[in-house]
Amino acid sequence: MKAIYLDKINTFSEKELAKPECGERQVLVRMKAVGVCGSDVHYWKNGRIGQFVVEEPLILGHECSGVITDVGEKVSKFAVGDRVVLEPGIPCMKCEHCLKGRYNLCQNIVFFATPPDDGVLVEEIAYDEDYVFKIPDEVTDYGLATMAEPLSVGLFATQRIKPALGEKAIIFGAGIIGITCLLAAKAAGCKDITVADIRDDRLACAKEMGADQVVNTMKDQIPDNTFDFGYEATGADACYNLAVKCIKPGGRIAMIGMGPEIQKVDMVDYVCKEITIVPSFRYSNTYPLVLDLLKDNQEKLKQLITHCVPFSLEGVEEAFHIASEDPSAVKVVVEF
Ligand SMILES: [Zn+2]
Ligand SMILES: [Zn+2]
Repeated sequence: MKAIYLDKINTFSEKELAKPECGERQVLVRMKAVGVCGSDVHYWKNGRIGQFVVEEPLILGHECSGVITDVGEKVSKFAVGDRVVLEPGIPCMKCEHCLKGRYNLCQNIVFFATPPDDGVLVEEIAYDEDYVFKIPDEVTDYGLATMAEPLSVGLFATQRIKPALGEKAIIFGAGIIGITCLLAAKAAGCKDITVADIRDDRLACAKEMGADQVVNTMKDQIPDNTFDFGYEATGADACYNLAVKCIKPGGRIAMIGMGPEIQKVDMVDYVCKEITIVPSFRYSNTYPLVLDLLKDNQEKLKQLITHCVPFSLEGVEEAFHIASEDPSAVKVVVEF
């Protein structure tokens, strides 16, 4: 079976691998679609994200959907032919964090496409059934199903920030993660949600996804002390400095975006207004819920898939170039 490896910065190659064997609690999944994520593009362009460095050839991709082609002897929840998504991380389930259900903090987690762990740009994969979830029948598009992963990021950040009904929120960043925060905040009963970005085309997209207001921070002023809470989904320190002004005293901000490791943020403002910073890393226990959110927002989410390419060496190269260079790209999906 075919796999596409990132050999070094900017260089993919195709390799032939043996078909994986299905362990007794595993299912064998034939890949149908893989979404290209910002983190994948980052590894391709820079060879690293923070402490994670690509030192050996690595298979990228962690947003995936497929169909089950075999099941292990002790598998209880799945049968051949089931349409599924894979949660990208397998935690150790022995450490303190795992035992408390906070398995996104597991230091021994094996996570797709995070060096040295391979991802899913590969034709077949054997995977632990506990981290496999059935796609609702109503969701017929495998590309759309891959969005369960970015949606998990938005849903988890929303669970972490605990919105109350009717709260007013601002989201910094109208990329895919900002949009998933928007959908999750709406589902949690927030009203009057503002999305801020520096690109009008992205803001127009946020509007279509249900933002009540949009703000282009290059041109427009954001009113001070207006929002109960915010989401930072860009990684830019400028957004933390805007957020601390427009969030009400005693408010809170979900910290999701990953920009430069060292940032210049006015911490005195944060102290004086007692703004709580709530970091949110990946997700845990989101998949069952997120598949519902996906089902309910299919029509909207479909519009975010702007490009589809076939699974091949050329196709994957094209997908990464589109994702990093084409300003019209929101979500690029590799189809098998
Ligand atoms: Zn992702
Ligand atoms: Zn653990």
